[in-house]
Amino acid sequence: MKKNLLILLAIFVFIGISAQQPGNFKNFTVSVYARAYEVRDMGDLKKLEATWNEITQQLKVDKIYLETHRDKIIVDEKTLETAKKFFLSHGVKVAGGITYTMDERNHFETFCYSNPEHRKKAQEIAELTARHFDEFILDDFFFTSCKCDLCIRAKGNLSWTQYRLNLMTSAGRDLIVNPAKAVNPKVKVVIKYPNWYEHFQGLGFNLEVEPTYFDGIYTGTETRDPMRSTQHLQQYESYLIFRYFENIAPGRNGGGWVDPGGASTMDRYAEQLWLTLFAKAPEITLFDYRQLQTLLKPSHRASWQGTQTSFDYDEMMKPIQTAGGQTVQPTTIARAAGYTFEKVDAFLDKLGNPKGIKSYRPYHATGEDFIQNYFGMMGIPMDIVPEFPSEPKMIILTESAKFDPQIVQKIKDRLAAGKNVMITSGLLHALQGKGIEDIVELKFTDRKALVSDFSAGRGSSCTSKTPILIPQIEYLTNDSWEDITSTNGASGWPILHQTRYSKAYLYILTIPDNFSDLYNYPAEVLNRIRTIVTQDLSVRVEGPSQVSLFCYDNGTFIVESFQPEPVTVKVVINGSLSTLTDLVTSQEIKGIPGTSPQIWGRESMATSGFEITLKPHSYNVFQIK
Ligand SMILES: [Zn+2]
Repeated sequence: MKKNLLILLAIFVFIGISAQQPGNFKNFTVSVYARAYEVRDMGDLKKLEATWNEITQQLKVDKIYLETHRDKIIVDEKTLETAKKFFLSHGVKVAGGITYTMDERNHFETFCYSNPEHRKKAQEIAELTARHFDEFILDDFFFTSCKCDLCIRAKGNLSWTQYRLNLMTSAGRDLIVNPAKAVNPKVKVVIKYPNWYEHFQGLGFNLEVEPTYFDGIYTGTETRDPMRSTQHLQQYESYLIFRYFENIAPGRNGGGWVDPGGASTMDRYAEQLWLTLFAKAPEITLFDYRQLQTLLKPSHRASWQGTQTSFDYDEMMKPIQTAGGQTVQPTTIARAAGYTFEKVDAFLDKLGNPKGIKSYRPYHATGEDFIQNYFGMMGIPMDIVPEFPSEPKMIILTESAKFDPQIVQKIKDRLAAGKNVMITSGLLHALQGKGIEDIVELKFTDRKALVSDFSAGRGSSCTSKTPILIPQIEYLTNDSWEDITSTNGASGWPILHQTRYSKAYLYILTIPDNFSDLYNYPAEVLNRIRTIVTQDLSVRVEGPSQVSLFCYDNGTFIVESFQPEPVTVKVVINGSLSTLTDLVTSQEIKGIPGTSPQIWGRESMATSGFEITLKPHSYNVFQIK
């Protein structure tokens, strides 16, 4: 009996130790996802050992996701167990993964959840996975794009959005989570969402309900190339989408997920990884086991390399000393990830909780798609929230806010409580005739103007490099006022417009027809917009666009340039006595005293200015003293 007790105690101690095994990095867990295509070959241990060695000599890995299904490939259970044993014996945590695709190569052909046979198969896959793992994650594809005759009949008079929302919300519960828990009551089931959040509802992803019954959610933070990829996602989204999902399920957003697809240089790949971590993701998953074996090639070295940028290709390529005393030459993109993680892990623990200007996106809303990410690229720290924010002094509402039927009343209540609101011209357009005129009588006309001359406060004039096409907004003289004006010939139109209502100000920001032209607003225009909108923050940036600011609640912040050339910006901090410490180099910088520009309804205040030159695609990390 005593002997048995001792053995039991020894087992407990062992479990305790292995559960507390420290990760490879101080601030996050690094995971690798392996697709069914690769997992099905993992019965060949010799091959597995070789590929695993190649990856882990270059990149420290804490956890692996082993996929059981993709494209009708189901990994046999013996191979799953062999692979599991292999990774556990290498001290790596193991979880499962499922991709619910029929054929990924056919426009990501999904299952049809109106089809009883597909439903049965989906459930069997969840059950099989739960038998082998205490945790599994659904990759991007737990949605449906099916418009077969079964779906058309079942949809009836509902919209596709409503039909698919209903269908997938119940499929998640009835075919995945409940059956998995029936097989393994301990199992943690996580749904990973892709990067196209603005369009989820149309294909059945339900951000309102699914996070309440899945054990966790996970965030696709890959943004690839804003110009060349068909999605045209802005780089800033790699940060903002993680924050948004964290606001939907606080503490249950497990991590961010990046693949190297569409990243023509290793800088673009590294940027997505560090932006995910700037958002304070506790785990980062690298997709996938196969892609991490992609050979590094000369074209991965960006043209601005050799100037000590944040991602320093030549430093990354230096031989690595392994724990076993070996010298290893980097060969694959696993090293790009490993190198990036080692650099950011050195300062992430000094950052507080991320802070940004709140922008409200009601559940299942669309309108001015993804525009908050453009604001982030304009140097405005952003934070998307699923509930209407009542607290901060300023919020930004975009066209998607029209999905809240109470939106006009909520704006009025905020203004009456002395709190400002900025709305976009798209939201003004959507609310025209729906009550917004009760606050201010403006007219969003059908006319356009092509403008390149601007005046940003107190008659200071400036010019954009290219003409910008904007909607013409009309207002009643002396009822509301232009804060930033654009002109062409003898006519002019507001870029930023303001009116007083009750105890606060409503601002209207004109959005160019091409959102990308937001980046072409001259620095003076951008500075004025930033000054007005960032009143809840003690830091702002002055200078051109495509320089982002990331703020934290403990006086730390990051300035990052997405430009291919060096760029000089001015960081302005409230208070006249500030000093900045660079958290990477420990260098101290003294500020130049100044005063904040005149804004209606706001006291002018003392500021400190810091001129900073950022290298291409690089960040600086600072602490205010
Ligand atoms: Zn169907």
